[in-house]
Amino acid sequence: MAYVIAEPCIGTKDSACVDACPVDCIHPKKDEPGFDEVEILNIEPVECIDCGACVPACPVAAIYDSVDSTPPSQKELIEANAVYREGDSGAVSQAEQIVKNHMSAHADLMAVAPAERAAAHAK
Ligand code: SF4
Ligand code: SF4
Repeated sequence: MAYVIAEPCIGTKDSACVDACPVDCIHPKKDEPGFDEVEILNIEPVECIDCGACVPACPVAAIYDSVDSTPPSQKELIEANAVYREGDSGAVSQAEQIVKNHMSAHADLMAVAPAERAAAHAK
């Protein structure tokens, strides 16, 4: 398990990280099935080479460099990234359900603007 996309991506999902990734491991991309349906993008944990290029590209600080650095309140989103597999529709829907469950459980944080959510989680 490598880099993790977490909650600030919800409501942003601008794909800036996709363009920065040298190994094309962030999905779904805008031209891939399911892009419109997902709340966040996911990093394929096996494909990621831990280069860190996606982190500064994200405008809302949604990408954490490890499981340990991901705030406890977002730990379930680690699981969403872990189960995601490009092209596996079962894995895509499983990851998306985890994200939706997280959104339901954290209505307070979802009310915070995406650009401020990383700071809100750090408190
Ligand atoms: S750390 Fe590098 S390889 Fe991994 S998702 Fe980010 S840009 Fe892609
Ligand atoms: S750059 Fe950040 S907000 Fe944009 S899609 Fe990637 S993780 Fe989500």
